[in-house]
Amino acid sequence: MGPPPNERGPGMSETGDVAAARLSAADYGKNFGDVKPPLDRARALVEASRCHFCYDAPCIAACPTGIDIPGFIRKIGTDNVKGAAVTILEQNIFGGSCARVCPTEILCERACVRSAQEGKPVKIGALQRYATDDLLARGIQPFRRAAATGRRVAVVGAGPAGLACAHRLSMLGHDVAVFEAKTKPGGLNEYGIAAYKLTDDFAQREVAYVLSLGGIALSCGKALGRDIELAGLRRDYDAVFLGLGLGGVNALGLDGEAMKGVEDAVAYIERLRQAPDKAKLPVGRRVVVIGGGNTAIDAAVQSKRLGAEDVTIVYRRGPEQMSATAHEQEFAQTSGVGIKHWARPVAIVGRDGMLTEVRFEYTKLDPAGRLVGAGGGFALRADMLFKAIGQVFVPAPLGDGTAEPLRLSQGKIGVDAERRTSLSKVWAGGDCVAGGQDLTVSAVEDGKRAALSIDRALRKGA
Ligand SMILES: Cc1cc2nc3c(=O)[nH]c(=O)nc-3n(C[C@H](O)[C@H](O)[C@H](O)COP(=O)(O)OP(=O)(O)OC[C@H]3O[C@@H](n4cnc5c(N)ncnc54)[C@H](O)[C@@H]3O)c2cc1C
Ligand code: SF4
Repeated sequence: MGPPPNERGPGMSETGDVAAARLSAADYGKNFGDVKPPLDRARALVEASRCHFCYDAPCIAACPTGIDIPGFIRKIGTDNVKGAAVTILEQNIFGGSCARVCPTEILCERACVRSAQEGKPVKIGALQRYATDDLLARGIQPFRRAAATGRRVAVVGAGPAGLACAHRLSMLGHDVAVFEAKTKPGGLNEYGIAAYKLTDDFAQREVAYVLSLGGIALSCGKALGRDIELAGLRRDYDAVFLGLGLGGVNALGLDGEAMKGVEDAVAYIERLRQAPDKAKLPVGRRVVVIGGGNTAIDAAVQSKRLGAEDVTIVYRRGPEQMSATAHEQEFAQTSGVGIKHWARPVAIVGRDGMLTEVRFEYTKLDPAGRLVGAGGGFALRADMLFKAIGQVFVPAPLGDGTAEPLRLSQGKIGVDAERRTSLSKVWAGGDCVAGGQDLTVSAVEDGKRAALSIDRALRKGA
């Protein structure tokens, strides 16, 4: 028996094969179209009728933003779609993107009693999308700003955390200035989430909707640590919220990482998300992805959808330890991506500066539970290698000579339950804070909680 398709056998060609336009225009359209098409009215009514409207509904407790799920489903059932959307958005202003990107299978839908009863939860995510899409399409902003407080808050980072914070602060009557380093707002909704989850420029349409409340001045191309400084913001504003996300990625620590064909998965996904014509984006014929999270799954599936022939994810531990959910892993496998467990890379091999193969050793846990080499290994031919082994917080933008440094915890910003940092007047939330879930919905909840805490502090000090 010869080697599996992507494993190297004697005499095989070792030249890199990275090319654009591997597919027809129709295939690109299909592959990057909406992965979960929306419910129409008839199907939404049927789905809504499946809800038991449970007392003490477990789905609400499982939603990080605490949306009244049976409440909005009941409204859909009576054709009050606007009311349903308001119920969602008053807890989660990014209810539209969360309906598309939330891993509902480990949150509300896992908790749904229908899931335990018949293995088929109410499709809460799809119903949430049905309601919020309607309001967004009609451009209805149901919230009004409270009477002006005269207080000014600076928000750094226009991702889900920063904008959720800004929206709530504005609703409470404060004026908000948002500073964003990139040219477009939205954070990873714009630059990171898989293209087939947020189609049709949804990230920008949703940001426009959030900003339509008023009272939020957005400045793009303004980076903390380059154009503005934390000390200045603390001096000039009544409060500051940091929603900086994670700016760095972990390295493999192997020779050859600078070789042509070796890519940081997050940077590649960003290029893919910004490419108006996906056919122009080169992808390898054989792609290897190292990692076990969302980023690894998204880099692998999107490579496949760009026309890569062989795509293999290699993860150093077992399927249960992958941070990508079982649902995401299955999605990758049904998309034609292979997943190999219990192996880690030991060498990146190339010719003339161009990647040709990645070598792995098998791994296992020793009696003390540590990950160790298990002896033996294999090589995968590769034209592209994506590193997706985790993102890290980059504290450099905070280093402005402030007398009191911001306390970090586990390499991220340390915050309390209200998302207050160790510095007076400074709050933080989303991926950049310690102890979070690194999900869009938790970033939104952080932003909301911080806004409520800021509001309390400003009113106390008024
Ligand atoms: C590839 C990938 C796929 C993902 N898929 C999912 C998914 O399917 N479902 C899900 O729930 N979650 C997913 N996530 C996680 C989710 O995207 C994040 O948890 C969420 O975006 C965090 O929001 P945030 O506002 O904290 O950070 P971000 O979205 O990262 O936003 C931070 C913002 O701050 C800006 N910024 C950074 N530094 C500065 C500075 N110095 N000055 C000014 N601005 C600055 C950034 O440019 C950015 O706009 C994914 C993440 C990745 C990387
Ligand atoms: S747990 Fe399921 S059935 Fe019960 S209220 Fe929530 S969505 Fe409805």
